[in-house]
Amino acid sequence: MNIHVDPTVCIGAGHCALRAPAVFDQSQHDGTVIVLDTQPDTEHQADVQAAVELCPSGAIWVSFAP
Ligand code: SF4
Repeated sequence: MNIHVDPTVCIGAGHCALRAPAVFDQSQHDGTVIVLDTQPDTEHQADVQAAVELCPSGAIWVSFAP
């Protein structure tokens, strides 16, 4: 699983960091998303998927290509 984000559309709502704190954090400066782990283990997949669905701006997506 590969994590992709577009910080330019992120509105800093923080749902991602709350739902999947092992994978996402937020900038101390402006609250925009920071990816802590671009290829998290499968144990984080459900949390990442929930974060994708919760994100109000569509700033997160995943791919599964190696
Ligand atoms: S949930 Fe979406 S809008 Fe909110 S901080 Fe994360 S990426 Fe940004």
